This record gives sequence, C-alpha cells and structure tokens, in this order.
Amino acid sequence: MTKFSNYVGRFAPSPTGDLHFGSLVTAVASYLRARSQNGKWLLRIEDIDQKRNQKGSIYSILKTLEMHGLEWDDEIIYQSQRSEIYRFYLNYLNEKKLIYKCSCSRKKLINYYKNLQTMEYIYPGVCRNKEIENKDFSTRIKAFNTFNIKFTDNIQGSIEQNLEKEVGDFVLWRNENIASYQLAVVVDDEIQGITEIVRGSDLLFQTTRQIYLQKCLNFKTLNYAHIPILLNKENQKLSKQTKAEPLKNLNAKENICKILNYIGFEEFIINYLNKNSKNSIELINNSVPYFDLSKINKVISVQFE
Ligand SMILES: [Zn+2]
Repeated sequence: MTKFSNYVGRFAPSPTGDLHFGSLVTAVASYLRARSQNGKWLLRIEDIDQKRNQKGSIYSILKTLEMHGLEWDDEIIYQSQRSEIYRFYLNYLNEKKLIYKCSCSRKKLINYYKNLQTMEYIYPGVCRNKEIENKDFSTRIKAFNTFNIKFTDNIQGSIEQNLEKEVGDFVLWRNENIASYQLAVVVDDEIQGITEIVRGSDLLFQTTRQIYLQKCLNFKTLNYAHIPILLNKENQKLSKQTKAEPLKNLNAKENICKILNYIGFEEFIINYLNKNSKNSIELINNSVPYFDLSKINKVISVQFE
C-alpha cells in the first residue's frame, strides 16, 4: 500500500466538452506535482452549471485521463450533488452579515468600471443596503477594503489585489439558484483537504477572492501555483470556445512528451523518458522524479505550436 504525504492536489475539469491540449497540460502538471511530493491527486467534476454540461463529456474526460496514465485517488466529487453543502456555508456567511441580495441585471452591470486586467466589472455594492423584493436576485459578499490581499504564487511570484477597488462585491449564489464558482471551489478545496492548487494562470486574479472567502469561512489558506496558459495563433486561450481540437487518446505518449516540454522538462530528459517507457502510463510515472516546479516558465501565457 502506498503511503501518502500530507500533500493533496487536485484537477477540477468542467464537463463542457472533451479535454483539449491546454486542459491536459494542467492535469499533467498538477499530477506530477502531487506525485513528486508523494501526495494524493484528487479529481473533482465542476458540473454545477448543468445548462453548460455536455452529454458524454464526463465519460470522455475520465477516459482521456486514464489513457494518459493519470490515475486519481479516492472518490470523484461531483459539484452538482453538493448544493446543500454550499448552502450551509452561505447561511454561515449570512449569519455573519457578510452577504446581501442583489437584483442588478447584467445590463445594469455594464455601467460600472471594468478591471482592465480581468475584463470583469467592478461591482460597487449598490444593493448592499437595499430591501430586495424581487424574486430574481443573486447573492454577493461584501468585499471590504480593510487590507490588500497578498499571496506568493509558487510560479508567478508575489500577487497583491485590493478587492474593493479591483474586484468589488462578488457573487456567491447565482440567480439560477446555484452556488457560484467561487463559493463551490473554496468549500470543496477545504473539504477535500487540498493543500496546493496547480491550475492555469487564467485563474490567477480570482485567487484573492478565494483567499478572502477562506478567511471569512475560517478555512485554511492554500498554496497556489499558476502555470502559463497556452495561446493559439490568434492569441486566444486554447479552450472549447476557441475550438481547440480534442485530444487523440491513441497519441497519448506523444501528447505527454509534448506537454513535458511546456512544463519545464529539458529535451534530452524527454527523449530519455520516451525511449525508456513502453506506454503512456509508464511515461507519466517515470516523469515524476524529474518534475521541478521551479523550471516552469514564470509567465502568464505561452504560444502553443
Ligand atoms: Zn445590485
């Protein structure tokens, strides 16, 4: 039986389509990081927004992970089954008078300033002291400007954000009556005992929101490592929206070699590993001792070729 260290990592895909190269880079990086620390690697399906889920895509994601030798520990968690848990923590924040109902429409939000780094609107808290009669509302948390939130990302370095000025009060419960991404992710990371999150740098500036929520909920603060996201020729993030091609499972070994190149492995090591591994499962596991977080490019994005 394997004895694990205290390290717990995770991969948390949304089942909105097949995995593409960009998402598999994140999966491989977080897997190798966890295994190189003798830690567990957990899997969570972020399927809370059921309108966006695509039929068959959970099966296809699990299949792709398996074919690439990415074996997860423990049971898979499905966010769509956890609404009551998220509701419990929302109620806790309500008792602390940290949240309020907001009836602003999307149309109204465009009147507010935009954060030019994240291209999100900064919600200035106009509904904080209103009585909301309307049945159609979302729930926001008050982001007080008491201190700047700082953290040291294990790849990107020191990050600092003033929530009130740069983000504004953000949504915890959506008007479709489901938990927001921010609330669900913070609750699940705490309950699953995650110690470090390795994910794409498109989420770098959401991290301060999550740290703030952890503090409000008396959860521990986690470690973070944001890897560069891959851009296509038009400088867009590889994603389902930008029509990134789905991965071919039959090329699993080749795919992993290509990914190792993006996460700091030197060419001669990749060649050595490739030659000495019979298949993708051997390749990924032989790669573990050579993984070094400090060798990953300290940039937000890189061109995919
Ligand atoms: Zn409002």
